[in-house]
Amino acid sequence: MTLSAPVYNRLALIGSGLIGSSIARAARGVGAARSIVATARSPETRRRVAELGIADQVVETNAAAAEGADLVIVCIPVGASGAVAKEIAPHLTAGATVSDVGSVKASVLSEMAPHLPPGVHFVPAHPIAGTENSGPDAGFAELFVNRWCILTPPENADAEAVERLAAFWRALGAKVETMTAEHHDLVLAVTSHLPHLIAYTIVGTADELSEVTRSEVLQFSAGGFRDFTRIAASDPTMWRDIFLHNKDAVLEMLGTFQEDLSKLTRAIRRGDGDVLFEQFTRTRAIRRGIVQIGQDAPVPDFGRPHPSLPVEPVPRPYAADNE
Ligand code: NAP
Repeated sequence: MTLSAPVYNRLALIGSGLIGSSIARAARGVGAARSIVATARSPETRRRVAELGIADQVVETNAAAAEGADLVIVCIPVGASGAVAKEIAPHLTAGATVSDVGSVKASVLSEMAPHLPPGVHFVPAHPIAGTENSGPDAGFAELFVNRWCILTPPENADAEAVERLAAFWRALGAKVETMTAEHHDLVLAVTSHLPHLIAYTIVGTADELSEVTRSEVLQFSAGGFRDFTRIAASDPTMWRDIFLHNKDAVLEMLGTFQEDLSKLTRAIRRGDGDVLFEQFTRTRAIRRGIVQIGQDAPVPDFGRPHPSLPVEPVPRPYAADNE
């Protein structure tokens, strides 16, 4: 599907890793922006983005990317977003929208908002889509198709700017939901952050076992462990920042989790099969519910091309004359 008109004139992507490069590919594929400018922290990544040809322009600085853009999306680890907001602030165009893709929202809001000038719309966002891979080569245009993108606009946000950003994400194939940053952080603490913490823990625990050799762990990993290793392979910088910036919600969920784990520990110790059976029946129904509402396929689908978006970017129909 190609849009009849672009949603934005000039899209600036600050950070060109998995998420930034996927936005570039998807936006280009459907013509969601007339032109795309991208940047990254290192010359190596910038060079690679230029080689991949997924942006119209690759510039050296965040400030240069922000200049003249009507949508700036910051696609970097959340710990760096405040500094980047400060850096780009003097270069933003009046009326532009600044957004991000960070996996934590309250801290991004409090760290970025104070730097942004009046007249610029700030609408944080979080596409609930990803893989364990990083960098510009890991991105793909179909990443957001049928995935949720949560917008967490501040209370006084301009409704038109929020709706325009929602239209942009819908053009990329996402379903859009709006909620407060605090609620987002609580929901994601249980659906994403806690599972990652468990995966990081369990893979580390298995690695430290002395009675089971490392080769046995690798050889017999299909019994559940393999799925944890995929999650535990996620980017260390990104996840360090997520836990540091969503501390309160994660600690709250971790407390509840530890209580529930104690109940199951007690059931195993006492040989209470009913408790175990009831819990496993309940969780099986939750999994089936997730598959039923289309939030997952019965098989893992990371990287699987989606039929409704072109695999190769289509030629840009809207190329601006002056670029
Ligand atoms: P990524 O593949 O590692 O890419 C990160 C990008 O940010 C790279 O271009 C990197 O530049 C740049 N960068 C890193 N540190 C920076 C800094 N201090 N200042 C400026 N730029 C910096 O990461 P990603 O997976 O795209 O994640 C980006 C954001 O998306 C994170 O906030 C994450 O929470 C969020 N997110 C991730 C997922 C996921 O599954 N991965 C899903 C949803 C949301 P260099 O390459 O030059 O270092």
